[in-house]
Amino acid sequence: MILAVTMNPSVDISYPIHEFKLDDVNRVETVRKTAGGKGLNVARIISQMEEKVLATGVLGGTIGEYIVQELTKSDIENDFLRINQESRNCIAILHDGKQTEILESGPTLTADEGAAFLEKYESLLSEVSLVTISGSLPKGLQMNFYQQMLEISHEKGIPVIVDSSGESLRQVLLHKEKPFAIKPNITELSQLLRMEVKQTIGSLKHVLNNELFNGIEWIVVSMGKDGAFVRHGEDYFRITIPKIDVINPVGSGDATVAGLAVALSRNQSVETVLKTAMTTGMLNTMEAGTGYIDLAKFSQFFNLVKVTKID
Ligand code: ADP
Repeated sequence: MILAVTMNPSVDISYPIHEFKLDDVNRVETVRKTAGGKGLNVARIISQMEEKVLATGVLGGTIGEYIVQELTKSDIENDFLRINQESRNCIAILHDGKQTEILESGPTLTADEGAAFLEKYESLLSEVSLVTISGSLPKGLQMNFYQQMLEISHEKGIPVIVDSSGESLRQVLLHKEKPFAIKPNITELSQLLRMEVKQTIGSLKHVLNNELFNGIEWIVVSMGKDGAFVRHGEDYFRITIPKIDVINPVGSGDATVAGLAVALSRNQSVETVLKTAMTTGMLNTMEAGTGYIDLAKFSQFFNLVKVTKID
């Protein structure tokens, strides 16, 4: 079973508004509400890939209860630390071909709540073979919180995929216990290295040689419609994908992490791991919902992904 961690989940609300009026009343007829946060997208896609998944993290209040109900409705096993504060809403207003987002920062956790989660995390590890940690840390937790999770996982010999960005990712990479895999996109990679990374094979190969990445088994740099560039141990791969009709690319990175987690937990070959991760990413872009794939289309697109080893 895979454990998918979301420390700051949300209810994602989307309001399609034909002509958005500032400083005026806007009425909405069709509201879509989903259990959101990157780790919940990962959990949903792992489940749609017909692999066992357990969703965990921290939630509270009526919004937290809604998230649990939605997960349970989708048959996703879940075991979250409950807190006495409301989880957050994240609102996307879809108007005039644009998307305006209003993102609550969510609850501020106490040190005791952080410690209680680490205890829960440790006990859940006895049931799982791989962990995914996605998204940002809630306020109140120390910047080294993910490192503490990595230490606990390392003691139990459980590999962890970390999909985070900014300072928390940087801190994770500087720590002695390394994640098993990371999946930055080009922007996140540039932020991490504090330089503008060019999307060429030469430049990517050079930057992935940075000592920041030492000891990480899989570094998957996802590049949207251009597929990915990957370092696996000492080997480098360029992955190309077919041109597809994109409906909604939001959550594609999470879908890629889910594919990676599923194939790794099934001990598949390097080529299959990479092709699976690209296929789940692509399938997510082909659905209107964020963090959804249609498994019936899997083999068709899997067969169109090309993995080339770079010398
Ligand atoms: P993130 O959402 O983290 O920025 P990407 O945009 O790189 O991640 O997307 C992750 C993966 O999803 C890509 O490697 C690719 O497989 C797929 N994908 C994303 N956007 C597109 C697109 N426009 N066309 C085809 N596949 C896409």
